[in-house]
Amino acid sequence: MTLEKGKSIEQTENEAISSNFIQSIIDEDLEKGVYGNRVHTRFPPEPNGYLHIGHAKSICLNFGLAEKNKGKCNLRFDDTNPVKEDVEYVESIKEDVNWLGFQWDGLYYASDYFQKMYECAVKLIKKGKAYVCDLSSEEIKAYRGTLNEPGKDSPYRNRSIEENFELFDKMKNGEFKDGEKVLRAKIDMASPNLNMRDPVIYRISHNSHHNTGDSWCIYPMYDYAHPLEDAFEYITHSICTLEFEDHRPLYDWVLRELEFEAPPKQIEFARLNLTNTVMSKRYLKALVDDGVVEAWDDPRMPTIAGLRRRGYTPESIRDFCDRIGVAKSNSTVDIALLEHCIREDLKPKVETRMVVLDPLKVVITNYPEGQVEWFDIENNKENEDLGRRKVPFSKEIYIEKADFMENPPKKFFRLYPGNEVRLKGAYFVKCQEVIKNPKGDIIELRCTYDPETRSGSGFNARKVKGTLHWVDAAHAQKVTVNAYSHLMVENETEESVLNPDSLTVYNGFAEPGIEETKPGGRYQFFRHGYFFADPKLTKGNEYIFNRIVELKSSYKKKG
Ligand code: ATP
Ligand code: MG
Repeated sequence: MTLEKGKSIEQTENEAISSNFIQSIIDEDLEKGVYGNRVHTRFPPEPNGYLHIGHAKSICLNFGLAEKNKGKCNLRFDDTNPVKEDVEYVESIKEDVNWLGFQWDGLYYASDYFQKMYECAVKLIKKGKAYVCDLSSEEIKAYRGTLNEPGKDSPYRNRSIEENFELFDKMKNGEFKDGEKVLRAKIDMASPNLNMRDPVIYRISHNSHHNTGDSWCIYPMYDYAHPLEDAFEYITHSICTLEFEDHRPLYDWVLRELEFEAPPKQIEFARLNLTNTVMSKRYLKALVDDGVVEAWDDPRMPTIAGLRRRGYTPESIRDFCDRIGVAKSNSTVDIALLEHCIREDLKPKVETRMVVLDPLKVVITNYPEGQVEWFDIENNKENEDLGRRKVPFSKEIYIEKADFMENPPKKFFRLYPGNEVRLKGAYFVKCQEVIKNPKGDIIELRCTYDPETRSGSGFNARKVKGTLHWVDAAHAQKVTVNAYSHLMVENETEESVLNPDSLTVYNGFAEPGIEETKPGGRYQFFRHGYFFADPKLTKGNEYIFNRIVELKSSYKKKG
């Protein structure tokens, strides 16, 4: 079941567990021995862009079902269209599938089947089930009729088998121009299903193909090619998204007319839609081409490569796909669920550090000049196994600008003139004086500390409401932090508005030790969220972190 906006995470999970209707179909087939005891699925991306989180759902589903049923899953590049595909995309797709934690059984290119597909077309012609048509694409459309009116037969529909065979051979040999002729399946121009009104199954395209070069100038159409690819690979369950439901009769027709035994079964499920996200390769490619984002793997992109660079783990994405499950009707999942999954994954696993993103200097006037104390602070409150570390403290520290207000509203429990707060793992400090520059900007605070309140001393004479993170100025390590938020302001339509504030860059300070972080390292920054040392950005002594997700969920339960 899909998480609808406003539905609780628990509710969604319970529904997901009971709703894998695809497993039920597989169970029934196994019981009846339709495919012996085989289960063989495939993930068939078109290599015309990078994979996105929607593809992850399909990957987890196909590879997951194979795993669960001790079956197999192929990775197949659906590269029957000569113009849009690219080797860069092929490589990125392989990397992404592997990174998600899956290994394919067979690796295939649909274009490797061009000869076999051609032979199948010849077989259809010889059975009188396909004909060469000279109508233009506009004419074909006009002849096709509408939902309320039947179509009209093409004047070429009754060509003889010999003539069709001869013309198709000439099409293949390059004797016609693009669009001059097509091969059509001969089904039923009055079918209530428009897809069955003599669909085009081959077209002419004098374009080089990234795999087959100039060997072919006729290319099979998706609805004809896809069932054949599945059948050639002995796929048992061919899982696709709902928009292909109306194409299923054609899928079945192709396999029936070509007399495949135990033909694969097409099963449709609802595609993933996410709030604040557009998931169309065409749209995402435009963002890259127009320079709206840095690249396909920009950490704001909903691509697998983008999520990886952002700092998402494969575990969190697989968990997300499990939780949303599979459904038969389309709906939109709140992106907060994806964010919840990465938090849940990292919470017990990563160490905490104190990092001040937007620093304000604090001088502790009564703290001894030249003294340094090393406080012992736990690395992860929930997981003692992650140990503890020493954090230095002295007379000058940095706190977060936002943790001070000169004229605070009610319920502001952080620092303000005369107020006392706890510095995490150290002392209580009280704000005594605010220093401003000539322009009136606050540039420094003067505070006093109470030595009695040393962390771990058992002091409990006073209570304070706020605990702030801080970084010792003398030991501070400069860091750059890229704080990302949603790329789109609203929902999943292409008219969505780009969020002008999807990236905020901070030049902050971290406690010492952060410079030992290896690229790919993850932390919780105390009070901020989860962060990732982007391997692509880490160079030399510059420490650059991506914010994966904030600590608090922005997810709002409704009603
Ligand atoms: P896009 O429209 O984003 O380009 P696509 O469907 O054209 O996507 P393909 O490369 O053809 O992309 O898709 C490979 C597989 O991934 C297909 O089986 C498709 O059904 C599935 N898939 C694509 N998008 C989603 C999605 N949002 N949710 C679930 N599955 C998806
Ligand atoms: Mg597609």
